[in-house]
Amino acid sequence: MEYQAKTLFADHGVPVTLGRVVRTPEEARAAAAELGVPVVVKAQVKTGGRGKAGGVKLAANPDEAADRARDILGLDIKGHTVRQLLVAPAAEIAEEYYFSFLVDRANRAYLCIASTEGGVEIEEVARTKPEAVHKIPIDPIDGVDEAKAREIVATAGFPAEVADDAVAAILRLWEVFTAEDATLVEVNPLVKRGDGRIEALDGKVTLDDNAAFRHPEHAAFEDKEAADPLEQRAKEKDLNYVKLQGEVGVIGNGAGLVMSTLDVVAYAGEEFPGPDGRGVRPANFLDIGGGASAEVMADGLEIVLSDPDVKAVFVNVFGGITACDAVANGIVAAFRLLEERGEAVSKPLVVRLDGNNAELGRRILTEAKLAGVELVDTMDGAARRAAELAASATAGN
Ligand code: GDP
Ligand code: MN
Repeated sequence: MEYQAKTLFADHGVPVTLGRVVRTPEEARAAAAELGVPVVVKAQVKTGGRGKAGGVKLAANPDEAADRARDILGLDIKGHTVRQLLVAPAAEIAEEYYFSFLVDRANRAYLCIASTEGGVEIEEVARTKPEAVHKIPIDPIDGVDEAKAREIVATAGFPAEVADDAVAAILRLWEVFTAEDATLVEVNPLVKRGDGRIEALDGKVTLDDNAAFRHPEHAAFEDKEAADPLEQRAKEKDLNYVKLQGEVGVIGNGAGLVMSTLDVVAYAGEEFPGPDGRGVRPANFLDIGGGASAEVMADGLEIVLSDPDVKAVFVNVFGGITACDAVANGIVAAFRLLEERGEAVSKPLVVRLDGNNAELGRRILTEAKLAGVELVDTMDGAARRAAELAASATAGN
Protein backbone atom coordinates (compact mmCIF):
# COMPACT_ATOMS: atom_id res chain seq x y z
CA MET A 1 0.00 0.00 0.00
CA GLU A 2 1.03 3.58 -0.62
CA TYR A 3 1.65 4.37 3.05
CA GLN A 4 3.83 1.27 3.39
CA ALA A 5 5.81 2.19 0.27
CA LYS A 6 6.27 5.69 1.64
CA THR A 7 7.51 4.29 4.95
CA LEU A 8 10.18 2.36 3.03
CA PHE A 9 10.95 5.50 1.02
CA ALA A 10 11.37 7.52 4.20
CA ASP A 11 13.66 4.83 5.66
CA HIS A 12 15.98 5.33 2.69
CA GLY A 13 15.80 9.10 2.52
CA VAL A 14 13.40 9.54 -0.41
CA PRO A 15 11.47 12.79 0.15
CA VAL A 16 7.88 11.96 1.17
CA THR A 17 5.15 13.31 3.41
CA LEU A 18 4.00 10.46 5.64
CA GLY A 19 0.71 11.72 7.13
CA ARG A 20 -1.59 9.48 9.20
CA VAL A 21 -3.33 6.19 8.47
CA VAL A 22 -6.96 6.23 9.65
CA ARG A 23 -9.93 3.87 9.56
CA THR A 24 -12.91 6.13 10.35
CA PRO A 25 -14.24 9.58 9.34
CA GLU A 26 -13.69 10.76 12.93
CA GLU A 27 -10.04 9.77 12.80
CA ALA A 28 -9.72 11.52 9.43
CA ARG A 29 -11.13 14.71 10.95
CA ALA A 30 -8.70 14.53 13.87
CA ALA A 31 -5.76 13.82 11.55
CA ALA A 32 -6.65 16.82 9.37
CA ALA A 33 -6.93 19.06 12.44
CA GLU A 34 -3.58 17.84 13.69
CA LEU A 35 -1.70 17.95 10.36
CA GLY A 36 -3.07 21.28 9.18
CA VAL A 37 -5.26 21.81 6.11
CA PRO A 38 -5.66 21.39 3.22
CA VAL A 39 -5.17 17.63 3.34
CA VAL A 40 -5.46 14.87 0.78
CA VAL A 41 -7.52 11.80 1.76
CA LYS A 42 -6.34 8.68 -0.05
CA ALA A 43 -7.71 5.14 -0.22
CA GLN A 44 -5.11 2.57 0.85
CA VAL A 45 -5.59 -0.49 -1.34
CA LYS A 46 -3.09 -2.65 -3.18
CA THR A 47 -4.04 -1.45 -6.63
CA GLY A 48 -3.43 1.60 -8.79
CA GLY A 49 -5.94 3.93 -10.40
CA ARG A 50 -7.35 5.09 -7.08
CA GLY A 51 -7.57 8.69 -8.24
CA LYS A 52 -9.76 7.82 -11.21
CA ALA A 53 -11.94 5.60 -9.03
CA GLY A 54 -12.70 8.46 -6.64
CA GLY A 55 -10.30 7.21 -3.99
CA VAL A 56 -8.14 10.36 -3.76
CA LYS A 57 -9.76 13.61 -2.63
CA LEU A 58 -8.64 16.97 -1.32
CA ALA A 59 -10.24 18.45 1.81
CA ALA A 60 -10.03 22.10 2.83
CA ASN A 61 -10.90 21.63 6.49
CA PRO A 62 -11.32 18.83 9.08
CA ASP A 63 -15.09 18.47 8.48
CA GLU A 64 -14.48 18.04 4.78
CA ALA A 65 -11.80 15.47 5.55
CA ALA A 66 -14.38 13.50 7.54
CA ASP A 67 -16.87 13.79 4.65
CA ARG A 68 -14.33 12.64 2.07
CA ALA A 69 -13.33 9.76 4.37
CA ARG A 70 -17.01 8.74 4.55
CA ASP A 71 -17.17 8.82 0.71
CA ILE A 72 -14.05 6.72 0.22
CA LEU A 73 -14.24 4.15 3.04
CA GLY A 74 -15.97 1.01 1.79
CA LEU A 75 -15.43 1.87 -1.89
CA ASP A 76 -14.60 -1.08 -4.08
CA ILE A 77 -11.57 -0.22 -6.21
CA LYS A 78 -10.86 -2.97 -8.76
CA GLY A 79 -12.06 -5.62 -6.30
CA HIS A 80 -10.26 -4.13 -3.28
CA THR A 81 -12.43 -2.82 -0.45
CA VAL A 82 -11.14 0.38 1.13
CA ARG A 83 -10.65 -0.11 4.88
CA GLN A 84 -7.86 2.36 5.52
CA LEU A 85 -7.11 5.90 4.41
CA LEU A 86 -3.99 7.97 4.32
CA VAL A 87 -4.54 11.56 5.41
CA ALA A 88 -1.60 13.79 4.47
CA PRO A 89 -0.93 17.49 4.08
CA ALA A 90 -1.87 18.29 0.47
CA ALA A 91 1.09 19.05 -1.73
CA GLU A 92 1.01 21.97 -4.10
CA ILE A 93 1.89 20.37 -7.43
CA ALA A 94 3.78 22.22 -10.18
CA GLU A 95 4.60 19.18 -12.34
CA GLU A 96 3.96 15.45 -12.25
CA TYR A 97 6.60 12.96 -13.42
CA TYR A 98 6.59 9.19 -13.68
CA PHE A 99 9.49 7.14 -12.34
CA SER A 100 10.15 3.43 -11.80
CA PHE A 101 12.81 0.78 -11.40
CA LEU A 102 11.93 -2.78 -12.30
CA VAL A 103 13.40 -6.15 -13.15
CA ASP A 104 13.76 -6.58 -16.91
CA ARG A 105 13.67 -10.38 -17.13
CA ALA A 106 13.86 -10.57 -20.91
CA ASN A 107 17.17 -8.71 -20.90
CA ARG A 108 18.44 -10.15 -17.61
CA ALA A 109 18.89 -6.62 -16.36
CA TYR A 110 17.11 -3.82 -14.57
CA LEU A 111 15.16 -1.11 -16.27
CA CYS A 112 14.29 2.45 -15.38
CA ILE A 113 11.16 3.95 -16.90
CA ALA A 114 10.77 7.71 -16.58
CA SER A 115 8.59 10.40 -18.07
CA THR A 116 7.90 14.08 -17.51
CA GLU A 117 4.24 13.33 -18.28
CA GLY A 118 3.36 11.41 -15.12
CA GLY A 119 0.10 11.34 -13.22
CA VAL A 120 -3.13 9.42 -13.56
CA GLU A 121 -2.98 9.39 -17.38
CA ILE A 122 0.39 7.59 -17.68
CA GLU A 123 -1.11 4.50 -19.36
CA GLU A 124 -2.79 6.78 -21.90
CA VAL A 125 0.50 8.65 -22.48
CA ALA A 126 2.31 5.33 -22.99
CA ARG A 127 -0.28 4.34 -25.60
CA THR A 128 -0.72 7.57 -27.53
CA LYS A 129 2.66 9.18 -27.05
CA PRO A 130 5.19 6.42 -26.38
CA GLU A 131 8.11 8.72 -27.21
CA ALA A 132 7.34 10.61 -23.98
CA VAL A 133 8.02 7.48 -21.89
CA HIS A 134 11.74 6.77 -21.66
CA LYS A 135 13.28 3.38 -20.95
CA ILE A 136 16.81 3.38 -19.62
CA PRO A 137 18.52 -0.03 -19.25
CA ILE A 138 20.52 -0.55 -16.07
CA ASP A 139 23.48 -2.88 -15.98
CA PRO A 140 22.85 -5.25 -13.07
CA ILE A 141 26.54 -5.27 -12.12
CA ASP A 142 27.09 -1.51 -12.24
CA GLY A 143 23.71 -0.50 -10.82
CA VAL A 144 22.86 3.17 -10.45
CA ASP A 145 25.55 5.62 -9.35
CA GLU A 146 25.44 9.40 -9.59
CA ALA A 147 26.55 9.41 -13.24
CA LYS A 148 23.82 6.91 -14.14
CA ALA A 149 21.24 8.94 -12.20
CA ARG A 150 22.28 12.03 -14.21
CA GLU A 151 21.93 10.04 -17.42
CA ILE A 152 18.41 9.02 -16.37
CA VAL A 153 17.45 12.61 -15.55
CA ALA A 154 18.82 13.84 -18.89
CA THR A 155 17.20 11.06 -20.92
CA ALA A 156 13.85 11.52 -19.20
CA GLY A 157 14.05 15.25 -19.84
CA PHE A 158 13.48 16.37 -16.25
CA PRO A 159 13.92 20.18 -16.24
CA ALA A 160 17.27 21.65 -15.19
CA GLU A 161 15.91 23.32 -12.06
CA VAL A 162 14.95 19.96 -10.52
CA ALA A 163 17.94 17.95 -11.85
CA ASP A 164 20.04 17.89 -8.67
CA ASP A 165 17.05 17.10 -6.49
CA ALA A 166 15.89 14.41 -8.91
CA VAL A 167 19.35 12.80 -9.02
CA ALA A 168 19.37 12.65 -5.22
CA ALA A 169 15.87 11.12 -5.12
CA ILE A 170 16.77 8.58 -7.83
CA LEU A 171 19.84 7.42 -5.88
CA ARG A 172 17.66 6.98 -2.78
CA LEU A 173 15.04 5.07 -4.81
CA TRP A 174 17.76 2.80 -6.17
CA GLU A 175 18.71 2.07 -2.59
CA VAL A 176 15.08 1.17 -1.83
CA PHE A 177 15.04 -1.12 -4.88
CA THR A 178 18.24 -2.98 -4.01
CA ALA A 179 18.35 -2.90 -0.20
CA GLU A 180 14.72 -4.04 0.14
CA ASP A 181 15.01 -6.71 -2.58
CA ALA A 182 12.21 -5.19 -4.64
CA THR A 183 11.22 -6.21 -8.14
CA LEU A 184 9.39 -2.93 -8.68
CA VAL A 185 9.68 0.55 -7.22
CA GLU A 186 7.27 2.93 -8.87
CA VAL A 187 6.60 6.58 -8.12
CA ASN A 188 3.68 8.15 -9.96
CA PRO A 189 3.59 10.99 -9.56
CA LEU A 190 7.06 12.08 -8.59
CA VAL A 191 6.25 15.76 -8.29
CA LYS A 192 7.92 19.08 -8.54
CA ARG A 193 6.19 20.96 -5.73
CA GLY A 194 5.18 24.59 -5.72
CA ASP A 195 8.42 25.39 -3.89
CA GLY A 196 10.44 23.65 -6.61
CA ARG A 197 11.44 20.63 -4.49
CA ILE A 198 11.02 16.99 -5.59
CA GLU A 199 8.68 14.68 -3.63
CA ALA A 200 7.34 11.15 -4.09
CA LEU A 201 3.58 11.75 -3.87
CA ASP A 202 2.63 8.13 -4.47
CA GLY A 203 4.55 4.87 -4.17
CA LYS A 204 4.20 1.28 -5.23
CA VAL A 205 6.73 -1.36 -4.25
CA THR A 206 6.68 -5.05 -5.15
CA LEU A 207 8.93 -7.09 -2.86
CA ASP A 208 10.57 -10.30 -3.96
CA ASP A 209 9.13 -13.14 -1.85
CA ASN A 210 12.25 -15.19 -2.55
CA ALA A 211 14.18 -12.71 -0.42
CA ALA A 212 11.61 -12.64 2.41
CA PHE A 213 13.98 -14.53 4.71
CA ARG A 214 16.33 -11.56 4.59
CA HIS A 215 13.57 -9.14 5.62
CA PRO A 216 11.48 -10.43 8.53
CA GLU A 217 10.19 -6.86 8.91
CA HIS A 218 8.43 -7.14 5.53
CA ALA A 219 5.90 -9.55 7.04
CA ALA A 220 4.16 -6.52 8.56
CA PHE A 221 3.23 -5.31 5.06
CA GLU A 222 0.93 -8.22 4.42
CA ASP A 223 -2.76 -7.31 4.25
CA LYS A 224 -4.25 -10.01 6.47
CA GLU A 225 -7.77 -8.54 6.27
CA ALA A 226 -7.88 -8.74 2.48
CA ALA A 227 -6.42 -12.24 2.28
CA ASP A 228 -8.68 -15.17 1.55
CA PRO A 229 -8.94 -17.18 4.81
CA LEU A 230 -8.04 -20.44 3.06
CA GLU A 231 -5.07 -18.80 1.34
CA GLN A 232 -4.05 -17.41 4.71
CA ARG A 233 -4.10 -20.86 6.34
CA ALA A 234 -2.27 -22.36 3.38
CA LYS A 235 0.40 -19.70 3.65
CA GLU A 236 0.88 -20.46 7.34
CA LYS A 237 1.55 -24.05 6.31
CA ASP A 238 3.91 -22.97 3.53
CA LEU A 239 1.60 -24.36 0.85
CA ASN A 240 1.52 -22.91 -2.63
CA TYR A 241 -2.27 -22.38 -2.78
CA VAL A 242 -4.54 -20.06 -4.73
CA LYS A 243 -8.31 -20.07 -4.27
CA LEU A 244 -10.36 -20.14 -7.48
CA GLN A 245 -14.09 -20.08 -8.17
CA GLY A 246 -14.96 -23.65 -9.17
CA GLU A 247 -15.94 -26.98 -7.62
CA VAL A 248 -13.05 -29.39 -8.29
CA GLY A 249 -10.22 -29.20 -5.76
CA VAL A 250 -6.88 -29.70 -7.48
CA ILE A 251 -3.69 -31.00 -5.86
CA GLY A 252 -0.56 -31.75 -7.83
CA ASN A 253 3.20 -31.82 -7.58
CA GLY A 254 4.92 -29.10 -9.58
CA ALA A 255 3.54 -25.73 -10.60
CA GLY A 256 3.53 -26.56 -14.33
CA LEU A 257 1.62 -29.79 -13.82
CA VAL A 258 -0.94 -28.08 -11.59
CA MET A 259 -1.41 -25.25 -14.11
CA SER A 260 -2.12 -27.71 -16.90
CA THR A 261 -4.38 -29.68 -14.57
CA LEU A 262 -6.49 -26.56 -14.09
CA ASP A 263 -6.86 -26.28 -17.87
CA VAL A 264 -7.76 -29.93 -18.29
CA VAL A 265 -10.35 -29.77 -15.47
CA ALA A 266 -11.91 -26.60 -16.91
CA TYR A 267 -12.07 -28.23 -20.33
CA ALA A 268 -13.54 -31.51 -19.05
CA GLY A 269 -15.95 -29.54 -16.86
CA GLU A 270 -17.62 -27.94 -19.86
CA GLU A 271 -19.36 -31.26 -20.37
CA PHE A 272 -21.26 -30.74 -17.10
CA PRO A 273 -23.01 -27.39 -17.18
CA GLY A 274 -25.01 -26.38 -14.13
CA PRO A 275 -28.40 -24.62 -14.15
CA ASP A 276 -26.61 -21.36 -14.99
CA GLY A 277 -25.06 -22.97 -18.08
CA ARG A 278 -21.56 -22.69 -16.65
CA GLY A 279 -19.40 -25.81 -16.63
CA VAL A 280 -17.62 -27.37 -13.65
CA ARG A 281 -14.35 -25.58 -12.94
CA PRO A 282 -11.25 -25.97 -10.74
CA ALA A 283 -11.71 -24.69 -7.19
CA ASN A 284 -8.08 -23.96 -6.47
CA PHE A 285 -4.44 -24.24 -7.42
CA LEU A 286 -2.36 -26.27 -4.98
CA ASP A 287 1.20 -27.32 -5.70
CA ILE A 288 2.56 -29.60 -2.99
CA GLY A 289 5.99 -29.53 -4.60
CA GLY A 290 8.41 -32.24 -5.54
CA GLY A 291 9.26 -33.92 -2.26
CA ALA A 292 5.82 -33.97 -0.68
CA SER A 293 5.66 -35.83 2.63
CA ALA A 294 2.53 -37.42 4.09
CA GLU A 295 2.18 -34.40 6.31
CA VAL A 296 2.29 -31.99 3.38
CA MET A 297 -0.29 -34.12 1.60
CA ALA A 298 -2.46 -34.11 4.75
CA ASP A 299 -2.15 -30.33 5.10
CA GLY A 300 -2.97 -29.91 1.42
CA LEU A 301 -5.97 -32.23 1.54
CA GLU A 302 -7.20 -30.54 4.70
CA ILE A 303 -7.10 -27.08 3.09
CA VAL A 304 -8.75 -28.21 -0.13
CA LEU A 305 -11.41 -30.34 1.59
CA SER A 306 -12.31 -27.58 4.05
CA ASP A 307 -13.31 -25.35 1.13
CA PRO A 308 -17.13 -25.62 1.06
CA ASP A 309 -17.08 -24.97 -2.71
CA VAL A 310 -15.10 -28.17 -3.31
CA LYS A 311 -17.34 -31.10 -4.32
CA ALA A 312 -14.63 -33.46 -5.56
CA VAL A 313 -10.85 -33.50 -5.51
CA PHE A 314 -8.41 -34.39 -8.27
CA VAL A 315 -4.96 -35.43 -7.05
CA ASN A 316 -2.65 -35.40 -10.06
CA VAL A 317 0.86 -36.63 -9.37
CA PHE A 318 3.74 -37.30 -11.68
CA GLY A 319 6.33 -39.31 -9.77
CA GLY A 320 9.85 -37.99 -10.13
CA ILE A 321 12.40 -37.74 -7.36
CA THR A 322 9.52 -38.44 -5.01
CA ALA A 323 8.19 -41.65 -6.50
CA CYS A 324 4.49 -42.54 -6.75
CA ASP A 325 4.68 -45.15 -3.98
CA ALA A 326 5.85 -42.45 -1.58
CA VAL A 327 2.99 -40.21 -2.70
CA ALA A 328 0.50 -43.08 -2.36
CA ASN A 329 1.75 -43.80 1.14
CA GLY A 330 1.42 -40.07 1.76
CA ILE A 331 -2.23 -40.13 0.71
CA VAL A 332 -2.95 -43.15 2.92
CA ALA A 333 -1.18 -41.52 5.85
CA ALA A 334 -2.98 -38.25 5.14
CA PHE A 335 -6.37 -39.99 5.35
CA ARG A 336 -5.39 -41.43 8.75
CA LEU A 337 -4.02 -38.11 9.94
CA LEU A 338 -7.23 -36.32 8.95
CA GLU A 339 -9.33 -38.97 10.65
CA GLU A 340 -7.29 -38.49 13.84
CA ARG A 341 -7.83 -34.75 13.54
CA GLY A 342 -11.58 -35.44 13.37
CA GLU A 343 -11.75 -34.31 9.75
CA ALA A 344 -12.19 -37.64 7.99
CA VAL A 345 -12.36 -37.31 4.21
CA SER A 346 -15.99 -37.34 3.06
CA LYS A 347 -15.67 -35.99 -0.48
CA PRO A 348 -14.78 -38.09 -3.54
CA LEU A 349 -11.12 -38.13 -4.54
CA VAL A 350 -9.85 -39.01 -7.99
CA VAL A 351 -6.16 -39.92 -8.07
CA ARG A 352 -3.96 -40.19 -11.12
CA LEU A 353 -0.46 -41.47 -10.55
CA ASP A 354 2.07 -41.61 -13.33
CA GLY A 355 5.83 -41.63 -13.66
CA ASN A 356 8.34 -43.17 -11.29
CA ASN A 357 6.90 -46.28 -9.52
CA ALA A 358 3.35 -45.53 -10.72
CA GLU A 359 2.31 -49.15 -10.65
CA LEU A 360 3.46 -49.68 -7.08
CA GLY A 361 1.74 -46.46 -6.04
CA ARG A 362 -1.55 -47.56 -7.55
CA ARG A 363 -1.30 -50.93 -5.84
CA ILE A 364 -0.76 -49.27 -2.47
CA LEU A 365 -3.86 -47.13 -2.94
CA THR A 366 -5.97 -50.03 -4.23
CA GLU A 367 -5.03 -52.19 -1.27
CA ALA A 368 -5.66 -49.39 1.23
CA LYS A 369 -9.33 -49.28 0.09
CA LEU A 370 -9.77 -45.66 1.13
CA ALA A 371 -13.42 -44.59 1.07
CA GLY A 372 -14.27 -42.37 -1.89
CA VAL A 373 -10.91 -42.76 -3.61
CA GLU A 374 -10.87 -43.73 -7.28
CA LEU A 375 -7.82 -44.34 -9.42
CA VAL A 376 -7.86 -43.22 -13.04
CA ASP A 377 -4.84 -43.80 -15.25
CA THR A 378 -4.90 -40.80 -17.54
CA MET A 379 -4.92 -37.11 -16.73
CA ASP A 380 -7.82 -36.40 -19.13
CA GLY A 381 -9.83 -39.34 -17.82
CA ALA A 382 -9.21 -38.40 -14.20
CA ALA A 383 -10.16 -34.77 -14.86
CA ARG A 384 -13.38 -35.84 -16.53
CA ARG A 385 -14.26 -38.20 -13.65
CA ALA A 386 -13.54 -35.52 -11.04
CA ALA A 387 -15.69 -33.03 -12.94
CA GLU A 388 -18.47 -35.60 -13.22
CA LEU A 389 -18.37 -36.37 -9.49
CA ALA A 390 -18.37 -32.65 -8.67
CA ALA A 391 -21.31 -32.08 -11.02
CA SER A 392 -23.41 -34.86 -9.49
CA ALA A 393 -22.56 -33.72 -5.93
CA THR A 394 -23.59 -30.17 -6.87
CA ALA A 395 -26.82 -31.39 -8.46
CA GLY A 396 -27.54 -33.50 -5.37
CA ASN A 397 -27.30 -30.49 -3.05
P1 GDP B 1 -3.39 6.65 -7.92
O1 GDP B 1 -4.49 7.22 -8.76
O2 GDP B 1 -3.81 5.37 -7.26
O3 GDP B 1 -2.12 6.52 -8.68
O4 GDP B 1 -3.13 7.68 -6.72
P2 GDP B 1 -2.12 8.92 -6.59
O5 GDP B 1 -1.57 8.92 -5.23
O6 GDP B 1 -1.12 8.90 -7.69
O7 GDP B 1 -3.06 10.17 -6.76
C1 GDP B 1 -3.72 10.45 -7.96
C2 GDP B 1 -3.61 11.92 -8.29
O8 GDP B 1 -4.16 12.69 -7.25
C3 GDP B 1 -2.19 12.41 -8.44
O9 GDP B 1 -1.68 12.20 -9.74
C4 GDP B 1 -2.34 13.88 -8.13
O10 GDP B 1 -2.73 14.59 -9.31
C5 GDP B 1 -3.50 13.91 -7.16
N1 GDP B 1 -2.95 14.11 -5.81
C6 GDP B 1 -2.49 13.15 -4.97
N2 GDP B 1 -2.00 13.68 -3.84
C7 GDP B 1 -2.14 15.03 -3.98
C8 GDP B 1 -1.81 16.16 -3.18
O11 GDP B 1 -1.25 16.06 -2.09
N3 GDP B 1 -2.12 17.41 -3.67
C9 GDP B 1 -2.71 17.56 -4.89
N4 GDP B 1 -2.97 18.80 -5.30
N5 GDP B 1 -3.03 16.53 -5.67
C10 GDP B 1 -2.76 15.28 -5.23
MN1 MN C 1 -0.27 7.15 -8.56
